[in-house]
Amino acid sequence: MKIGIMGLQGSVIEHVNAVAKSGAEPVIVKYPKDMDGISGLIIPGGESTAIQKLMEKTGLAAAIKEKADSGLSLYGTCAGLIMMAKEIDNGTDDQLSLGLIDIKAKRNAYGRQNESFEEYIDIPALGDRPFPGVFIRAPLIIYSGEGVEILGRYGDGIAAARQGKFLVSAFHPELTDDMRFHRYFISMCDG
Ligand code: GLN
Repeated sequence: MKIGIMGLQGSVIEHVNAVAKSGAEPVIVKYPKDMDGISGLIIPGGESTAIQKLMEKTGLAAAIKEKADSGLSLYGTCAGLIMMAKEIDNGTDDQLSLGLIDIKAKRNAYGRQNESFEEYIDIPALGDRPFPGVFIRAPLIIYSGEGVEILGRYGDGIAAARQGKFLVSAFHPELTDDMRFHRYFISMCDG
């Protein structure tokens, strides 16, 4: 099964390695044509405003929305979560998202001294062992609609969620040795 990794900006190669370790074939996606034959697409973390501009320039924004409408599975980590959210809090004035999953993402939800940290998160869908959450200037989900399944919480907010074929995490599983999150995503993709 081929899994695309959007390769415009951010932690791309780490997701490529994680997908390969999880038993699927990674494909770097820079242009719409690169999505031919993929069963799922990962939008990596990085800087959401930069990712947005590049997605518009390459035509990926429109192409991903179209594929998402026709059933492509998507997984967004960190800035990727922001890109997939229906609503962004604390975004820049002209910041747009793809509006795929019914959540409100608060950008840069943590104060300066706590911009980056690691915290174990309980994610029952992945089993009893808590998941090592690496948060880097992370967003937090501050609202989720009725159709959204909450997979894990952190503090007052939600750190991981799913709505049908759309999966998001505020943290970066690709920066750990724990492949359970990637395997979970791959299990959501039709081979
Ligand atoms: N703070 C970044 C943003 O707003 C996200 C950081 C990340 O993806 N690690 O886009």
